[in-house]
Amino acid sequence: MKLNEFPEDVRKYLVPEPSGNVFYRCLGCGDEFNIERLLYTCPSCGGILMLYHQLGGETQAIEGGLWRRIFDYRRMLNLNPLKGIFRYYEFIAPIIPLESIIYLGEAHTPIVVANQNLEKLVGLPFYFKNEGLNPSLSFKDRGMACALSFLNYLAKKKGMKNLVTICASTGDTSASGALYSAYLPNLLKSAVLLPKGKVTVQQLSQPLGSGAAVLEMPGFFDDCMKVVEELSEKYQVSLLNSKNSWRILGQESYSFEVAQDFDYQVADKVIVAPIGNAGNITAIMSGFLKFRKANIISELPKIIGVQSDHANPVYRYYLEDDPSRRKFEPVTVRPSVAQAAMIGNPVSIPRVIDLVREYDQAAGQKRIFFVSVTEQEIMDAMIVANKNGHIACTHGGESMAGFIKAINRGLVSKGEIGILDATAHVLKFSSFQQMYLADRFPPEFQVKPRKEFKNTPIAIAPKGLRKVPQAGKPLHGKDLDHFTKAHAAEIARTLNLKKR
Ligand SMILES: *Cc1c(COP(=O)(O)O)cnc(C)c1O
Ligand SMILES: [Zn+2]
Repeated sequence: MKLNEFPEDVRKYLVPEPSGNVFYRCLGCGDEFNIERLLYTCPSCGGILMLYHQLGGETQAIEGGLWRRIFDYRRMLNLNPLKGIFRYYEFIAPIIPLESIIYLGEAHTPIVVANQNLEKLVGLPFYFKNEGLNPSLSFKDRGMACALSFLNYLAKKKGMKNLVTICASTGDTSASGALYSAYLPNLLKSAVLLPKGKVTVQQLSQPLGSGAAVLEMPGFFDDCMKVVEELSEKYQVSLLNSKNSWRILGQESYSFEVAQDFDYQVADKVIVAPIGNAGNITAIMSGFLKFRKANIISELPKIIGVQSDHANPVYRYYLEDDPSRRKFEPVTVRPSVAQAAMIGNPVSIPRVIDLVREYDQAAGQKRIFFVSVTEQEIMDAMIVANKNGHIACTHGGESMAGFIKAINRGLVSKGEIGILDATAHVLKFSSFQQMYLADRFPPEFQVKPRKEFKNTPIAIAPKGLRKVPQAGKPLHGKDLDHFTKAHAAEIARTLNLKKR
C-alpha cells in the first residue's frame, strides 16, 4: 500500500527515523558501554553483554495499542528494509539508518497448524513456526540480518574497511554468517570455524558457496568457540556468534512475529524451542518481555526450553528448584541428531539465568520450564511431523518431542496451544532422516527406527524387458511402447492400484 493511503494517525510512524539510544550493559558488573566500539565481552570484567534500548523523541509516548496498529500497518508497507526483522524497528535497533539495513528475505516465516492427526498424537493443538524458510534455511538469519546491518552502519560511519567476520559453528551460524557477509563483498571477508565431521554435507556446502574461508578443526563446537574467542580478543575480527549481542536483538523478532500473528493474544500460547548455545531462548524471552513492558501484549506466554539427553547442561542447571543452590556445570556432549544444539557449555547461560528470573517475576508465576528428551524421541517426532505435511529438521523434532514431554509431565495442559520452533529446514539434516528411514543409525546415537516408518526407494524392474533407454540411445516405436506398458503394470502391481 502507498504511504498516503494509510490512516493518518499511524502514517507518520510507518517509516521510522533513527532516534533514541542503544547501549551495552554487562550482566556481570553492570557497567554500560557505548556501541561505537565492537564489543563482545565486558571490557571491565570480561562478562557477557546484552544490548538495551531507549526510545527517542515522539516514540517514547506511543502506547501499546498504537504500536500494534503501527506494526499491523507496517506489514502492508512495500519498503524492503522494513519487511524483515526491522518491521519492529524501534524494538530491534532504532539507531540504524534504513539505508544501512541488509534484508535478504529473512523473517516473516509461516506459522503452520498441525493437522488433526498430529494434534491427536501429541495431545494438544499446536503450530510449527517454520524457521527453515529463512534464506540460509535456519533462524540464525534473523540475528545475522541485525548484526550485519549494524556492522554495515558502523563501518560507513567510522570509515572502517577490510573487515573479517568470523564465527564458530555447528553448521547454521556459518551458513548464515557467510551468506550475509557475502552480500557486502566490498566491506567484508568471512571465515568460519567448523568441528570437522560434525556438520552435515549441506551445511558445509553453504559457506563454501558463499565464498567464505571454511576452516575445519578437530574437536567439537565448544572447542571451536574457544578458538574464535581467542581470535576475537587478540585480532581485529568481527565475531558473528551469538556472543555478539546484535545477534540476540535480531532474533527477538521471532517473539514479535508470534505475538503479531496471533493478534497479540499470547496468554494461552506455549513457545517451545530447542537450546544449544542458548542465544535463541535468550532472544525469545527478551522479545516477549520487551513487548510486555511496552504493553503491546498484556500477558507473557509460557516458554519450554528443550535439550537432548546427549547435551543438556541448561536442563540440568534448572533441575535444582532452589535458585540459591543452582550451580552451572558444563557437560561433555555425546553424538546427537540435534547436531546444531550439541553444545555442552552454552555461551549465553548468564543471559538465560538473568532473563528466566526477570520473566517469571514479570509474569508473577513460573512461566519458563526446561525438559530433556531422548534421541529416539527427537527422531520419532521429526519423522511423524514430516509424514503429516511439515518440514521440520531434527531440532523441530526436538521441539515437538519437548512439547509432548511437557504435556506428559503436566507442565502444559488443555486450553493451551503450542508454538513449536522448527529452527531449520529438514533438508539440512536429511542425513539423519536417511539413517532413520534406512535403519542405519550408528549405535552411539541410540536410535532405532519404528518399523512402520521405514522407507527406502523401490526399484521398478519388470522382468523380460530386453531394451531400456540409455544415454544417447532413447527408445522408439514398439520398444518404447513395450517399456512404458511393462513399467506401468509393474508400478500398478506394487501400489496395488485398481483398474479404471
Ligand atoms: C543454532 C541452532 C539451534 C540452537 O540455538 P541456540 O541459539 O544456539 O541455542 C537449534 N537449532 C538449529 C537448527 C540451530 O541452527
Ligand atoms: Zn562487566
